[in-house]
Amino acid sequence: MIVKFKESTEKKDIELLRKHLIDLGFAIHESVGQTYTIFGIVGDTTKFDMNSLYAFPSVDTVLRVQEPFKKVNRKFKLTDTIVDIGGVPIGGKNIVMIAGPCAVESREQVDLTTGLIQAAGAKILRAGAYKPRTSPYSFQGLGPEGLGILKDARAKYGIPVVSELMSIEDLPLFLDAVDMIQVGARNMQNFSLLKELGKIDKPILLKRGLANTIEEWLMSAEYILAGGNERVILCERGIRTFETATRNTLDISAVPVLKKLTHLPVIIDPSHASGRWEYIESLSKAAIAAGADGLIVEVHPEPEFALSDGQQSLKPERFADLVVKCRRIAEAIDRTLD
Ligand code: PEP
Ligand code: MN
Repeated sequence: MIVKFKESTEKKDIELLRKHLIDLGFAIHESVGQTYTIFGIVGDTTKFDMNSLYAFPSVDTVLRVQEPFKKVNRKFKLTDTIVDIGGVPIGGKNIVMIAGPCAVESREQVDLTTGLIQAAGAKILRAGAYKPRTSPYSFQGLGPEGLGILKDARAKYGIPVVSELMSIEDLPLFLDAVDMIQVGARNMQNFSLLKELGKIDKPILLKRGLANTIEEWLMSAEYILAGGNERVILCERGIRTFETATRNTLDISAVPVLKKLTHLPVIIDPSHASGRWEYIESLSKAAIAAGADGLIVEVHPEPEFALSDGQQSLKPERFADLVVKCRRIAEAIDRTLD
């Protein structure tokens, strides 16, 4: 349910309604615009007569929100959310490039890659220390040692880091080593993990599940916001379809659909979406043209020796070229890529 106050309503009248609603057991998500204040009201409103709120002279409109997601709903917050990742804002006019290897493999590999992606224009480093591999015999990541390597790269290059958390027991290590915690596609509906991430003060990169609808994805984001952590970025990384020519099918329409439904930033992962480095440029340009706020791209100095996802990893020089091309698309739609 949404309450829109009349233009220039006084603070005391806003507080009066807030108290009334809290006394009734509702939680309030407030959105203060230039001229209007909006209350997003969360709780069981089924037995509540919403028209009773018109008894307050300050109330302009009361609306029932049909969608099951509330706090992530654009109706609850009129302005775009901008999430700050260690000093790098995502969700504003500037498009942000996140890049790095699929997995941390060694100190040298991370050090070399970080220097090169940063010089090319990446603002955030990505790399997994804990890898969700389909086969238990595949490289599983370096674990705590990998996080230590990322922490050192962050200190040396002054670049924020994003890495995937698979199990909540590792959270203390992540709080110390990374600037944003990634929830991978396979954990998008790990609700106990999402609940815990709702309690922390750290941005979350929530990837779309392998076969999840946009509504299910937004409900997962809702878990994190409902817990109190409002710094969530959504990442479309391709979904399962009947098509096998690419690893997944990039749902490009997710970008405008999400922009309509939610105020949260949206980024695209063309690497896991396509599974092949040759397709990264086309998908990246399409993503930016469609309105994405950033890209997360796998880059490896020697993809032919990568321990995971070498087939979809760009060489650093190709990444540098990609940034230049994406910048042109950004400028064509009146955005920047600095
Ligand atoms: C990754 O980013 O390395 C990854 C495993 O992604 P996803 O969860 O989208 O498959
Ligand atoms: Mn990968």
